[in-house]
Order: sequence, then C-alpha cells, then structure tokens
Amino acid sequence: MSTENNINQLYKNSIKILTDLIAFKTVSGEDNNSLIDYCDEILKKLGATSFKTFDEEKKRVNLFATIKAKKPNGTKPIILSGHTDVVPVSKSWSTDPFKATIKEDKLYGRGACDMKGFIACALAYAPIYSKANLNRDINFSFTFDEETACQGAPILIEELKKRGIKNGICIIGEPTNMKIIDAHKGCYEYTTYFEGLAGHSSAPHKGVSAVEYAAQYVNKLIELRQELKNRTSKKSIFDPPYSTLQIGGIFGGIAHNVIADKCHVNWETRPVVKEDGIFLNSEIDKYANEVLLPEMKKVSSKSSIKKEIIGEIIGFNRVQNSEACELVSSLTRDNSREVVSFGTEAGLFQEIGISTVVCGPGSIEQAHKVDEYIMLDELKKCLDLLEGIKKNSTVN
Ligand SMILES: [Zn+2]
Repeated sequence: MSTENNINQLYKNSIKILTDLIAFKTVSGEDNNSLIDYCDEILKKLGATSFKTFDEEKKRVNLFATIKAKKPNGTKPIILSGHTDVVPVSKSWSTDPFKATIKEDKLYGRGACDMKGFIACALAYAPIYSKANLNRDINFSFTFDEETACQGAPILIEELKKRGIKNGICIIGEPTNMKIIDAHKGCYEYTTYFEGLAGHSSAPHKGVSAVEYAAQYVNKLIELRQELKNRTSKKSIFDPPYSTLQIGGIFGGIAHNVIADKCHVNWETRPVVKEDGIFLNSEIDKYANEVLLPEMKKVSSKSSIKKEIIGEIIGFNRVQNSEACELVSSLTRDNSREVVSFGTEAGLFQEIGISTVVCGPGSIEQAHKVDEYIMLDELKKCLDLLEGIKKNSTVN
C-alpha cells in the first residue's frame, strides 16, 4: 500500500472509531465501562498491557494501557491522554447528539471535539505503534469525569505513583486546534451549606436565618475577591491576570414570612497560583468558623456551616524548556505557546513530574455547545502529530 492509502485508511478508521465512541452515552457521572472496554479491547488485540482504576462503586473507570517499547533505550515514555466523559445535551440539537453525523467538512456529535476526536485518532493510530520498533513505551490514558472537576484522573494518578510511573511526556488532547497550550489557571468549585433554625418571621431573634448568614458569607467572598486582585504578580500570563472568584448561585428559603433554616451557596475560584487558593480557603473558613458560626450558635446550638469541595482542578504552570512542548513544537513546527481559560487534567500529570502539554484536534469554541462538531481536517492534523511521535520514537 502506498503511504497515501495508509493515511486515508487511518483517517477512515479514526472516523469509524469516533462514530463508535460518540454512540456511548458517557455523560459525566454515568457508567463509562462499555466505552472503556471498547478501547481496552482495541489496544489488547494489539498486544498492549493495561490496568483500570475505578470510583468507589466501580461504575466509572479509568484505563491506562501501554504499548511496550520493542527496543527500549531509556527515552521517556509518551502518554496520550483524554477524558471519556462528555457534558450533558439539551433538546435543541439538530441531529441526534449520540449519533455521529457528517455534513460537509464537519462531524457532529456530543464529544466530537471535547474530546473523543483525540481518543479516536490515538486508537486509530495504535496499530502502527504496535508494529513499530518503538524505543519507548506509548501509553494511553483514558479517564472518567473530567468535566465535573476532574474526579477520575486523581485516582489514576495515585495508581501511577504507586507503580512508579512518574516520568514521561504527556499530551492531553483537549481541543486546541492543535495549538500548544502550556498553562491554565486552577479551577476550584465549592458548595457551602448553612443550617440555622426555622421560625416565624415576626420573631427573627428566635430563629437563625440561614439565608442571612449565607448573604454575609457571600459578602466576605466578594471582599476577598478584591484581595485576590491585589495579590497578583506583574508577570502573570493570564487574562485576567489575577485569581478570580465568582458566586454561581444562592439557594434557600421557602416563604416571605418564614425564617429560612437552610441555604446553600455555589461558588468557584480560579487561582493563578496555588497559594491564592490556600489563602482564600483559609480566610473564608476562618470567617465562617470564628465569626458567623458562634453567632448562629448563640441562638441554636445545632447551627452549622459546611463547605463541600466539588472539585479542585489544580492549575497547569508554564515551565521553561518544557520537554513536552518542545517535542510537539518539533513535530508541528509551531513554536507558539498559549494559555487558555479552561481547566484540564494537565496540572495533575505535571504535579507528579510528567512533562505535559495540552494539544488536540478541534476547537474549544464548539465544545459544550448544542451541535458540537469537529472539523474533519483537524483529525488529519492530529494523525500527523501521532505519525510524528512514531518517527520520534522508533529505531531501526
Ligand atoms: Zn474536555
């Protein structure tokens, strides 16, 4: 077969696999076992070894599979990483979101760009890796529930640490139009629950209004937001340059004339540096426990304030001479470095010493939207990158 035929075949396979992947309704929080089994089977047939890590109920699963080097020479292993979950769909789609539909130069479907497109390319390319004289391992890391504050990846990372897999080059194929992303802020989400004492509104002193205490808590957060701005270093590469904070919702109360006994606040912060997250948490916890709670308890000893961590996606920090970025640059001939405003699993890999880059097919503009699509051309570009990785990882 000529090289061109090979490339065509690869491209067709990537579309076939992407179509299969989209048909698995792996909305975050749902069971993703069948999708993972599908991927595991493809890789096992090629001789890959693999292990799985699970959530507590074994309902959601991460896969880590390895195509071993035939001629290992100490070169750092590659990790091709993608999340298998997708965000929910609404009724306003013009096609079935779980059926890949090709129209002109686009393939529509939930997860087409975020980020089953990358996983499909990696799986389509895997047979070539398995036949090549690899001088390093090529790993496939497929996680669950990235979209809900990276719940799956930390479980996988723990296992990697146990197995001593702490060095390598990781490419996270989130949709970046194949541009090199080398940093993003963290993304921490919280819900804080207030419990007071219900009562008749005519005697507010006899109750503890959870809504009113929640309001004070929110005010304190807004005050701290200003302090976060003041903490920013002039060298920040982000837009906006400072750590942000946002209140997503306040929920509480049942009627005008009833003292609300329950209220909760959804809020998030996007720290530029880890220290900002630590600062903010310690300040707000101190305020809740040392100022608000004693006041609430004066009236009802059962009052409580509980902060639940929904997720803490750690930031992805720019490093000079990143091996991962330099490898991708050498293959795509693109020396630019960009930052993004969305969170990824990159910081988790980086934290255990794995050189990491975010680079993948499709555009974040189409992610999380009605009629999500990927430009077919992007799949080809991604296959080119995977081809480059092969050339870079083979000895004769
Ligand atoms: Zn994503």
